Amino acid sequence: MKALADGLFTVFKHLFMKPVTLEYPEKKRELSDAFRGKMVADTNTGEHCCIGCGVCKKVCPSGAISYEKNEEGKVVSYSFDLKKCIFCGNCMYYCPRGAINMTKEYELGCESKENLILTYKKEGEDD
Ligand code: SF4
Ligand code: SF4
Repeated sequence: MKALADGLFTVFKHLFMKPVTLEYPEKKRELSDAFRGKMVADTNTGEHCCIGCGVCKKVCPSGAISYEKNEEGKVVSYSFDLKKCIFCGNCMYYCPRGAINMTKEYELGCESKENLILTYKKEGEDD
């Protein structure tokens, strides 16, 4: 009898509590500024552009990073493999140029493995 009363008490108590879940995807939780989502690499020529130093590749624990350079040694294409990335943020934290940012974008699911390679090309480079 006591167990039944305890159970009913728990049920009624929760009737008046605020839900702890959200009706995703209609409602979304506000993310912290420290959230690590989709990465963006700057392959252009500004103050924060990638110089191809290789630090990010060395600190990436899952080998998710690759880039291509042209004959002059400039990075023309930079890729993250989302099949391997664990979103640890090392590439962003250790890049001496601040060339990598992690956005708050997290809905990265797709139907094709090929689309899980994020590639950023230098402006003017062909696809
Ligand atoms: S650490 Fe930064 S500058 Fe160096 S290769 Fe990686 S993204 Fe480019
Ligand atoms: S977030 Fe971590 S695992 Fe993903 S590419 Fe950067 S260093 Fe590699």
